[in-house]
Amino acid sequence: MSAGPPIDEAYLDALRAELPGLRVVDKRDDRFSRLVDRALRIVTLGGQRHYLTRYVTTIGRTLYFPEGWEARSPESRYVTLRHEAVHLRQFRRYGLVLTALVYLVPFFPLGLAYGRARLEWEAYAETLRATAEVHGLEAARDPALHAHLVEQFVGPAYGWMWPFPRVIQSWIDRAIREISLS
Ligand SMILES: [Zn+2]
Repeated sequence: MSAGPPIDEAYLDALRAELPGLRVVDKRDDRFSRLVDRALRIVTLGGQRHYLTRYVTTIGRTLYFPEGWEARSPESRYVTLRHEAVHLRQFRRYGLVLTALVYLVPFFPLGLAYGRARLEWEAYAETLRATAEVHGLEAARDPALHAHLVEQFVGPAYGWMWPFPRVIQSWIDRAIREISLS
């Protein structure tokens, strides 16, 4: 077997072919990302303070990578790219303005942003599928992973976008059932 490019690089190449104009930006060197970081800290009262260091962000056809992205394993980067690919396709499907509106407008009051929650859920379902493909079904069933996913929806990371942990867990359970049947 020949050693091809790492799984994440091969996938990024496939995404570039699927989505012409795809751009990759390092958040660390990006003034816009630092502005977003400051705004998020303010509107979440410091609850989301990892925007530059933990979260990959997709806007339009641009992927913004956080500090430490290079230090993650190729498998971890691949699973994250699968999630972000869903957002890239959402932007292509709905357009920049509509996607941004659905994502951002229900920002106030923080806490019941159903549009954002649905866009994120579509992407986190893909996180579960990619995790099962790369690490096996047991990894996708890991309660620690589920707790992390639930926290993304009910916690400050995305502005408490859908603060109903049992609803999120039921979405996860359904996704796992579908994955294990496929
Ligand atoms: Zn996402």
